[in-house]
Formats: sequence, structure tokens, C-alpha cells
Amino acid sequence: RKGNVIITGASSGLGLATAKALGETGKWHVVMACRNFLKAERAAKSSGIHKENYTVMHLDLSSLDSVRQFVDNFKRSGRPLAALVCNAAVYLPTAKEPSFTAEGFELSVGTNHLGHFLLSRLLLDDLKQSDYPSKRLIIVGSITGNTNTLAGNVPPKANLGDLRGLAGGLNGLNSSTMIDGGEFDGAKAYKDSKVCNMLTMQEFHRRYHEETGITFASLYPGCIATTGLFREHIPLFRLLFPPFQKYVTKGYVSEEEAGKRLAQVVSDPNLSKSGVYWSWNKNSSSFENQLSKEASDAEKALKLWEISEKLVGLN
Ligand code: NDP
Repeated sequence: RKGNVIITGASSGLGLATAKALGETGKWHVVMACRNFLKAERAAKSSGIHKENYTVMHLDLSSLDSVRQFVDNFKRSGRPLAALVCNAAVYLPTAKEPSFTAEGFELSVGTNHLGHFLLSRLLLDDLKQSDYPSKRLIIVGSITGNTNTLAGNVPPKANLGDLRGLAGGLNGLNSSTMIDGGEFDGAKAYKDSKVCNMLTMQEFHRRYHEETGITFASLYPGCIATTGLFREHIPLFRLLFPPFQKYVTKGYVSEEEAGKRLAQVVSDPNLSKSGVYWSWNKNSSSFENQLSKEASDAEKALKLWEISEKLVGLN
């Protein structure tokens, strides 16, 4: 019997490569949870995933109504859930002004963190109830949120501060649009959202791993310098970034290779440990990586969890 895996943002980049890697094994049915139905269908077709191995379902993470609607649709499909991969993200490094989700949260944190937070909370029961032998909830992290690395030290650095902006609603009205309460900065908002992703994974692990046996994990797949993530960046950056990563930092990884890495975290029996942030060596072997001080701060993770519950209407 095939396992069902939901992958958000599977219409391009890492999500698509992962859908392909898992689809090809014949052991997985991939639910591609995407905001652009046609783009996702086309992407699946052109990457050659067999139509028996995937379904596209609409999900716009920048609307909590859409998240709830997606969860209803998925439940109605009757598919037992073996794995959920929170992969989609927006990155707005050159934005001068903030954009907002349907509920009025700053778009990067609203989409990358809050949308996924609600989605994973609402699907936790489906994971619990499925009898698939190794159930997993994977949240894609990033090196850029980890200030214990070189890449994580390129300014503006991630910093959630005391979460006052988030607690205020992150809406630019009665609060800041930044989690720490500071001035809007698109690059920092993305990094902050990735710290939220990594903190959320650990809080899930602490709360639910023992009771449910579900594996909660995060990863940094390497620098996939060619994906659409950098589409909002200035042209010179987009031209120089891939060769820079290939030849200077040597952190470059192809979309295909990164997809194989994420597929490993979803399905490899050797990577079933919970609470881990996976990374890969130059020879492509996986290892348990250290998170930065902030990205592994249990007190912050708890506070983030509680504020996020309020914002998405779970509490
Ligand atoms: P892409 O931009 O190629 O993929 C992002 C995906 O997210 C797209 O499919 C996009 O949809 C989707 N998406 C964006 N907004 C929404 C939304 N509101 N609702 C639903 N889906 C949405 O980037 P990557 O493949 O590079 O990024 C994937 C993940 O990898 C992210 O979590 C990113 O943080 C992480 N990552 C990437 C690295 C890199 O070097 N590229 C390094 C480390 C981590 P659409 O196709 O419609 O635009």
C-alpha cells in the first residue's frame, strides 16, 4: 500500500523535486498542495510524475480560510496521511513596504510560519490516526535563520526578540510588522519565519512525539540557488548567486539533489529520529546538525506556539 504525503508548494523548486523523487519510487502518492492549480498540474506533468502518483489540491497558505478548506478537502478524500511536508515559502528581500495575508499578517511570517502552523495543527489528528508504520511531519528550515553559521551571520540577522510584534498581531496597525517589533525588513522577515519553522518543529516534538510516535524533523537541504525563491531579488543577484554558491561557498546543491535529500527525510528508515535538524556533508551524507541558540530556545518555542495559536484562532 502506498503512503500519502502532502507537500506544500510542490509547484516549483524543492517541493516539486521532492514530489518527483517520492513519486518515482511507486511507494508514495503525493498530494501537491499548491496555490496555483494550473501551474502545479503543468509542473507535475513536465517533470514526468506518473498521474497515478500525485493529486493537486488547492492551498493558499496566505489565507487561513484556505488552509481550513484544504484540510476539509483532504479529509473528505479519505486518504490516510503518512507524512506532511511544510515546504512552501515566500521571500521578499527587496520589498520596501510589507505585504499582508488575508488576515492582515505580514506576508512572509504569515505564509511561511502561521499558515503552516495552522495546517500542521489541523492535520495532526490525521497523522495520529493513520496506521502507516513511520509517520512524519517535516518542516523545511534554513541555514539563514541560524546565526551560528556563516550564512546566518549575513545581515540582517534573524532575531525574534521578545515576540512583541507577533503578539500584537504583526499587522502594522497596532503592532509592528516584524516579530521583534522593529522596522519592516523583507529579508529579515523571511529569516525570522524560518526560525519560527525550526522552533515549531521542536515544540511539536516535545509535545507529541512520545505520545504519538510521529517523527518531527526539519532540515537544511543546501543552497538551491536556482529556485524561484530568489525571483524577487535584483537581476545582478540572480545572475551571480548560483556561481557564487557553486564555486565560492561550495554550498550549492541542484534542485534534484535537494529533492532527494528531502525525500530521504520523509521516507528513509535511517532518518526516523524525531526532533532533528538534518543537514548534509559535501559527500551528500546526512548528519544531525546543531541549531543556533535562538532556534533551539525552548522557552521561545513555547511562547511562539502560544501566540501563534491565538493568531490562527486555535485558542
Ligand atoms: P520556490 O520559490 O521555488 O518554491 C516555493 C513554493 O512555495 C512555490 O511552489 C510557491 O508557489 C509556494 N508558495 C508561495 N506562497 C504560497 C502560498 N501562499 N500558498 C501556497 N504555496 C505558496 O523556492 P524553494 O523551492 O527554494 O523553497 C522551498 C523551501 O526551501 C522553502 O521553505 C525555503 O525556505 C527552503 N529553502 C530554500 C533554499 C534555497 O536555497 N532555495 C535554502 C534553504 C531552504 P508558486 O509556484 O505558486 O509560486
